[in-house]
Amino acid sequence: HVMAARRHQHSRLIIEVDEYSSNPTQAFTFYNINQGRFQPPHVQMVDPVPHDAPKPPGYTRFVCVSDTHSRTDPIQMPYGDVLIHAGDFTELGLPSEVKKFNEWLGRCWAGGGHALLPGGPPDLPRSHCSASPTPALVSALTCVCDSFRLGDVLPKGFRPGLFMQPWFYGWGFNLPRGQALLEKWNLIPEGVDILITHGPPLGFLDWVPKKMQRVGCVELLNTVQRRVQPRLHVFGHIHEGYGVMADGTTTYVNASVCTVNYQPVNPPIVIDLPTPRNS
Ligand code: 5GP
Ligand code: MN
Ligand code: MN
Repeated sequence: HVMAARRHQHSRLIIEVDEYSSNPTQAFTFYNINQGRFQPPHVQMVDPVPHDAPKPPGYTRFVCVSDTHSRTDPIQMPYGDVLIHAGDFTELGLPSEVKKFNEWLGRCWAGGGHALLPGGPPDLPRSHCSASPTPALVSALTCVCDSFRLGDVLPKGFRPGLFMQPWFYGWGFNLPRGQALLEKWNLIPEGVDILITHGPPLGFLDWVPKKMQRVGCVELLNTVQRRVQPRLHVFGHIHEGYGVMADGTTTYVNASVCTVNYQPVNPPIVIDLPTPRNS
């Protein structure tokens, strides 16, 4: 079959559209049978850090949430250095919901700390539940919705990047699978440490039981595993996939707070990473 990655003559790794791009369930089955790609020892389930565990010296604590859908009241927020929210923070995208979200952010850590929210190019259709037009309304923490300003708020030395999800019924931040999305993933620079996307990569916390489908993005998986190789990849969108996995290079977090029935019962996920020594 066609190689999904090759090296450019100037040695930048080029990710190509996968032959199974349009059918992620089939891609999952194929790569599992032929490569064991989603099984041990290639991947492991990970237990998240308990909220009351002390942070080891020299580490940065990331508190990850996603898909809060305006149901923030019951969420118990542990303290950390950086709060990551991977999208779907409203239900309908109303300004009143953004205001409420901002107030909640402000209460989370009493005005200290940093929050990373997903954004996107301003020409994208406005989502029922994402953050593109909202930075002006969200002011409680140092919030960043633009990938190129992210470096300003993270502890120095962490390099972040953030983006969108495969097309699903024309909702916000959707693009067709294949070339269109790959072109967005190609904007993620090599060497990003903390990657935030709204949706999962193929095979990692992307299973939709009611449809018996894998819905993660194949091009995102190939981009993450073969080219970008971040230390942490945070996403949500598939509420059923809440949890943590790892592949030896990257820790994958589906931080969906809401279940598939929009009950906000999944706790925020704490991840401690060694703070880069050059910070
Ligand atoms: P949301 O509306 O919050 O973006 O998505 C909520 C739910 O819609 C997910 O938990 C999942 O059940 C379903 N969903 C979202 N995207 C997809 C997709 O691409 N394929 C399928 N089959 N279901 C999806
Ligand atoms: Mn959601
Ligand atoms: Mn979503």
